[in-house]
Amino acid sequence: MRCFDSDAHRAHHPRDPIPDAGRLVPPPEVPERAERIRAALDDAGFEVTGPTRRDAPGLRRVHTGAYLRFLEGAHAAWRAATGMPATAEAVPYVRPLRGQPAPAPRHVIARLGWYSHDSDPVLAGTWSAARAAVDLAASAWDAVAAGRCAAAYALCRPPGHHAAADSYAGYCYLNNAAVVAQAWCDQGARVAVLDVDYHHGNGTQQIFYDRDDVLFVSLHADPAHEYPYFLGFAGERGRGAGEGCTRNLPLAPGSDWSAYGPALAAALGEVRAYAPDGLVVSLGVDTALEDGDSFRLVADDFLRIGEAVGGLGRPTVYVQEGGYDLDVLGRNVTNVLLADGR
Ligand SMILES: [Zn+2]
Repeated sequence: MRCFDSDAHRAHHPRDPIPDAGRLVPPPEVPERAERIRAALDDAGFEVTGPTRRDAPGLRRVHTGAYLRFLEGAHAAWRAATGMPATAEAVPYVRPLRGQPAPAPRHVIARLGWYSHDSDPVLAGTWSAARAAVDLAASAWDAVAAGRCAAAYALCRPPGHHAAADSYAGYCYLNNAAVVAQAWCDQGARVAVLDVDYHHGNGTQQIFYDRDDVLFVSLHADPAHEYPYFLGFAGERGRGAGEGCTRNLPLAPGSDWSAYGPALAAALGEVRAYAPDGLVVSLGVDTALEDGDSFRLVADDFLRIGEAVGGLGRPTVYVQEGGYDLDVLGRNVTNVLLADGR
């Protein structure tokens, strides 16, 4: 297992409190998450290197050009319009009315709402950090696709699976997992994305919803009760050519291995039946018991996940998604990677 990491994520460090179920709480998606995972990788003896690819294969096929241009310049445009300092956080708060005329907006306040689907901030360093995370994902893919290793892990921060083709949300700005899948597709491969984050990967689903060259399978908390609320229901199965290539396995919040294990087996069955040339794992570990209102997976359960993924025997790229309990997320990530056994 080759691992890829860099310090570039530190440029994105949200500090302003965020709304969470009626309270304002400190933002949980912080640099210390990646630092804890990196320390656990080192302790476990993994070989960790910096990025080897910086050309972002797949990025411009996954996200629209207009969105990428917006995200790159958003903070500078917002500062120019508001006079706020470089350390301030640009938060979207206005959106168009559904069903009403909505010409593409020009004012940066409107554009922040247009290109997002919740209230994540854009910071001065958001673009550089998100872009660097794509480089790590592409580097891990390159190592696997070129046959230098059977499996690789990218310590991506910010995460990516909530970012859609032209919008950001859920701490995600660029969809690292989708970039890997697209890079593989552009080589003629069939790809499966297995998303085991606690939250549904609504961005990844949207990006590939109409396509049959990417299978998207997700285990997550039932969106009737959990973020992202609007997507991730079992009835969403793809559209057009993509009919049948999306599979959602929602579980009740608070589920433990007795429910998770069979759902994981079903998800792996879908992957096996699709017989992909490459597998991308959106590795969220916010399914941990310690992660607050979540599932109740314990340390050994993450070993079981890694063992099951490794058992598929497919070339695999793991991409880091969520996981917020600083005391256990490093252990849980390394448990998955160690048990994969490659
Ligand atoms: Zn999550």
